[in-house]
Amino acid sequence: MIHSKLPEVGTTIFTVMSALAREHNAINLSQGFPDFDCDPELHDLAFRAMKEGHNQYPPMRGVDVLLDEIAKKYSALYNLPLDPREDITVTSGAAEAIYSAITAIVHPGDEVILLDPAYDLYKPAILLNGGVPRVYKLNSPHFKIDWSGVERMVNAKTRLIIINTPHNPIGRTMKESDLKALENLVQNTGIFVISDEVYEHLVFDGEPHESILKYPGIFQKGFATFSFGKTYHITGWRIGYCIAPKSLTREFRKIHQFNVFTVPTPLQYAIAGYMKDSRHYEELPVFFQKKKEFLQNALAQTRLKPLVSEGSYFQLYDYSDISDQPDVDFVKEMTIKHGVAAIPMSVFYSDPDPQERLIRLCFGKTIETLEAAADRLRAL
Ligand code: GLN
Repeated sequence: MIHSKLPEVGTTIFTVMSALAREHNAINLSQGFPDFDCDPELHDLAFRAMKEGHNQYPPMRGVDVLLDEIAKKYSALYNLPLDPREDITVTSGAAEAIYSAITAIVHPGDEVILLDPAYDLYKPAILLNGGVPRVYKLNSPHFKIDWSGVERMVNAKTRLIIINTPHNPIGRTMKESDLKALENLVQNTGIFVISDEVYEHLVFDGEPHESILKYPGIFQKGFATFSFGKTYHITGWRIGYCIAPKSLTREFRKIHQFNVFTVPTPLQYAIAGYMKDSRHYEELPVFFQKKKEFLQNALAQTRLKPLVSEGSYFQLYDYSDISDQPDVDFVKEMTIKHGVAAIPMSVFYSDPDPQERLIRLCFGKTIETLEAAADRLRAL
């Protein structure tokens, strides 16, 4: 018998629920991915890159043309001077970026502050590195962060804080005041920050995305992680990137090079070609907000009650008027009997409240899919 390093961990809920959805022919509003294709120009660009012979290992950090486009983008967005060769690394999705950053920072016994609920990959990555997760619980339905409470958890062993905005699964965004509080908290300490910003362009109501790249006091000790999958509707390409100051990037790459080494060359060229002179991301807030509102309106006649979603692919719904079942049982039954798959909220907590009755729905789908799902959910 192998001595498990993660005895408490099973298969991720996203894989479990998508498999259950397939098995029962259910509409899949569980795992966060679009059910529509990317711009066909991306297919052509990838094919062209292959035909042009970009089929061998790329440089470990990523191909220069892509690094240049990423640097250009953030200099336009935040007036941030980045050195494309030293501050940016192209990764195998944001997941690898986060995993590699945690591995670069966390030594055995180091404490890492997580805001709970938290995306499911952070905690196992901390544990695998011998770190000690310290969980600061946010409470539904507002999930407001009391930074003085977070500060009280800091001690001499605190090495890292992980933040996520827009937040998966709660769909909330951090505000300027949150980032300023975080900046105050980490300044003049040995605490690093990993910021999961994969939904950076899915922020609604004309609000700005608050990236750590805008806050020098955080960025000087920060790893900002991003996803082309979310921005270009290509989650299966598995390409993301990490932006961090040179001295942190140097350590980050020591892990990245022995973890995945590089990510597919032709796909990097394709994305670089697509990014050239493109401001496609400017359309995304309205594009996804319409989907969120469509689903919310379509569910207005049901007993599923929406919580506020300010960003991401996701919205939480309270089902307490429908059932008193625990959420894991409820989503399984909803998938099997009603033909719509969702994610139970409890899986994102270290210490779930057994009374909470919340599910996460992904609205990053076609209007037809959302309509069909709402039709089925009206029967709940
Ligand atoms: N980030 C996606 C979600 O939250 C899932 C990615 C995955 O399946 N690992 O649904």
